[in-house]
Amino acid sequence: MFKKILYTIGLIIFGVFIFLIVKNANLNSFIDAVENRTFDLRQGIIIKEGGKKANSDIVIIAVDDATYEYILGNYGEWPLPRDVYANIINYLENYSPRAIAFDMMFVKSLKSKNNADLALINAFKKYNNIFTAMNFDNQSNDLRIPPELPDKLTIKIENKSKINFSDLTYTNCRKILDGIINSTSNIGIINVSRSDDGVLRKMPLVVKYKDKFYPQLALKVGMNFLGENDESYEIDKNSNFNLGDRKIFLDKDGSAIINWYGPAGTYTYIPMYQLIKAANGEKTELNYDFSNKIIYFGTTASSLFDIKTVPTGKIYPGVEIQATFLNNLIDNNFIRKVNRGYTLALSILLALLIASVVSRVSSAFTASLMSLSTYFIYLLISYYAMKFGNLWLEVIYPLIFSIFAFTCAYIIKYLIKSRDFELQYKLATTDGLTELYNHRYFQEQIRMQVEQSKRYNTSFSLIIIDIDFFKKFNDTFGHQSGDAVLREVAQTLKKNVRSTDIVCRYGGEEMSIILPNTTKDEAFSTAQKICNRVASKKFKLFGGKETNVTISLGVSTFPADGESAVDIIEAADKRLYNAKNNGRNQVG
Ligand code: GH3
Ligand code: MG
Ligand code: MG
Repeated sequence: MFKKILYTIGLIIFGVFIFLIVKNANLNSFIDAVENRTFDLRQGIIIKEGGKKANSDIVIIAVDDATYEYILGNYGEWPLPRDVYANIINYLENYSPRAIAFDMMFVKSLKSKNNADLALINAFKKYNNIFTAMNFDNQSNDLRIPPELPDKLTIKIENKSKINFSDLTYTNCRKILDGIINSTSNIGIINVSRSDDGVLRKMPLVVKYKDKFYPQLALKVGMNFLGENDESYEIDKNSNFNLGDRKIFLDKDGSAIINWYGPAGTYTYIPMYQLIKAANGEKTELNYDFSNKIIYFGTTASSLFDIKTVPTGKIYPGVEIQATFLNNLIDNNFIRKVNRGYTLALSILLALLIASVVSRVSSAFTASLMSLSTYFIYLLISYYAMKFGNLWLEVIYPLIFSIFAFTCAYIIKYLIKSRDFELQYKLATTDGLTELYNHRYFQEQIRMQVEQSKRYNTSFSLIIIDIDFFKKFNDTFGHQSGDAVLREVAQTLKKNVRSTDIVCRYGGEEMSIILPNTTKDEAFSTAQKICNRVASKKFKLFGGKETNVTISLGVSTFPADGESAVDIIEAADKRLYNAKNNGRNQVG
């Protein structure tokens, strides 16, 4: 019964706890923040172990610090006149690359001459494997009116999931050159999504602007690579973006979680100035075969500021994030986060497992070790699930649940144990019939009283009680009535002494009372009082009859009547014998 109540209380607390965790947004985002860090750690270890290799078909052309310096020195302006890009494109196309993608926005340039822009526009017209970027934002209409964009830039999405894309919906757009927009549909969006801690762990596959969806630049490049050009794409009810036979999992905000291949510099970097030189027919160290490569242009120079923090490093250029995203798409290894419902179910399972270990294993050390191992095995599973299954099994909720279950189980176990102990102790020290202390306890206590009284130089008294003519009583009224009388006499004794006095059943129908710090006179008057109370009491018998019972008492006191427990008991016994001899119903 007691155990059942405890377990019920434990379960109720557990339920409230789960409710709080699930319903408390602050607590949730705190847990998410810690969970995100464990994601970074797992990714870091997987990379260190050489788990995931980046695709070597991707190469980055970096507008690095050296290039920036070269451009300012040779052209005297930034951005670089657009005809230079046109030259580079023409140069690269000689190699027949798979794609050339600019993680750059060719917005209107005031300095450059118009025909420079035109050269680039013509390059976009000429080749169908050139891609460029555009960005949505939420600038006010004071700055610019949100532009209309042609339908060819949108992607049709049939959204059957619960994702509402509210975090990925933008109200304004920084438009690139009209000429480019008119010449190509190979334009992708480069908006990103960061976690609360500022770290970029995921990127939107599509974003929303004026009620229409637009694809991420990497998605655009990836779709071209995979030959995907469906009319419409489905996001199924399990939040998977269906791209051919690929199912790309989208997190609750609509972003895809990126699998990382290494720190910045995982992909081949070629400084763009070398390409400029090569395209202009100058001598350069550049010696690279671009055939069949996917070439990504982007800024890496710190002064041009397109640097982000990602799980594998504090400084990671935006263009390499694009490359990584595309790599995930091509190799089909985006991260899939396990549904929160499953996580909670797993957490509860783990908690139950640990609670049952704690309740079954008696050694605290073994139980702790086993609980720890249970969680550790779960950690290992979560690590390998990510390494081999691209699966993000959350570990913080299970940790919290495990600690909670461990603690709860221990508290319950302790409560049950201490109650069992109390019960055992009571059984060992009390008499079942009268509920007085038993003979053993009496012997212990009287010896302790002798020791204490000796040490503190005090006195204590002992009263021994024997019921008069009890044999006859039993013979007359039966043992049942005898037992009842014994119980009632015991209660009368208890009621008429101090709470510090120790009332025991000495044996048979004899009882004893140890009265600590009590002189002979005080004990004698207590004995007299008890004698009178019992004598005047009406004892009810089976069948409604009433009768009287008397007792005889013997009193002794330490140290006047002896120096040891045996002496004190003997002295009280002697006086009890006297009382019997003098006619009973009296104190000897
Ligand atoms: P006295 O006045 O000399 O004490 O006479 P007495 O008959 O009480 O004599 P004694 O103290 O020797 O008797 C003990 C009797 O108490 C024997 C037994 O029948 C009775 N008795 C002892 N323990 C119990 C018990 O647990 N229940 C009942 N009903 N009777 C008990
Ligand atoms: Mg007796
Ligand atoms: Mg008796």
